[in-house]
Amino acid sequence: MIRGRFAPTPSGMMHLGNAKIALLSWLQIRSGNGVYVLRIEDIDIQRSRPELVQTIMEDLRWLGLNWDEGPEAGGPFGPYTQSERLELYEAALQQLDRQERLYPCYCSRAELLQIAGAPHGLASEGPVYPGTCRRLTREEQASREQHKAPSTRFAFRDERYDFEDGIAGYQQFPPASGGDFIVKRADGMFSYQLAVTVDDAAMGITHVLRGSDLLDSTPRQLALYEAFGWSPPEFAHAPLLLGEDGRRLAKRHGDLSLAGLRRSGIPAERIIGWLAFISGLMDRPEPVKASELISGFALDRIARQPFTLTSEMIERLTADKHY
Ligand code: GLU
Repeated sequence: MIRGRFAPTPSGMMHLGNAKIALLSWLQIRSGNGVYVLRIEDIDIQRSRPELVQTIMEDLRWLGLNWDEGPEAGGPFGPYTQSERLELYEAALQQLDRQERLYPCYCSRAELLQIAGAPHGLASEGPVYPGTCRRLTREEQASREQHKAPSTRFAFRDERYDFEDGIAGYQQFPPASGGDFIVKRADGMFSYQLAVTVDDAAMGITHVLRGSDLLDSTPRQLALYEAFGWSPPEFAHAPLLLGEDGRRLAKRHGDLSLAGLRRSGIPAERIIGWLAFISGLMDRPEPVKASELISGFALDRIARQPFTLTSEMIERLTADKHY
């Protein structure tokens, strides 16, 4: 039995880009008669807005993307909300600690920013960490500890990770491309990489379909699967939906939140039709129900190129009568 999931972070309203991922992962699981799980990824309490969980669930139901396990549905692998699963993450960390795969890191944000060749700034997980604190002696650790609470890093091995992506094709990452990434922040918060890996494994997820912005996270997660001795799921990374400025679709591209579209009276079938068109599953954006797309769905039908949503398309999408 295949098992897939949609794992939204309730830090903002769902937009068309998120809906595209939800639709494709739902179609993958429904076309394989599998179990679809909804998991709320709210470990980042500073960014999370609990009141949005209800809106996300309403959006999904409106689109016809039902879940078999998750909030409100229940299921044998709950709780399905990350903030209620902290003990599992702690137990997983202890396992890694026993294997001597963890070390404390005292580097400050400012120090990390100074690291030469930090190309992407410190977005989410940050650039590849050069391993400065990996080399500290116990005495050095103890003296640093007096001034600063450490974050915890996973000691990445110099391995080459490769896998066959269900949409993007064969992927190969050079050794150490994951760096020694953070598994627990200095303020006690577990990292996305740790939580997502522990949860996907604990919930028996066999198929992960998500946005290609998370492709670079995959070697880090594969390294964790390996360290835990778990077998990884099949991964498929769908191309992103872009705004006319070439950037990932987001709130700045007009009020394209699903809740906004829903409340303005646009039929869900129109949204699904556009998402299917954008994903390469239909030649034209004609209204369709999600359930009508199940038969004949296959990952290799998904377009591999990012799709740019022009303002003209947005007008058609949000217009009253025509598509
Ligand atoms: N929670 C993540 C997000 O909303 C998705 C995680 C995943 O699919 O691995 O971007």
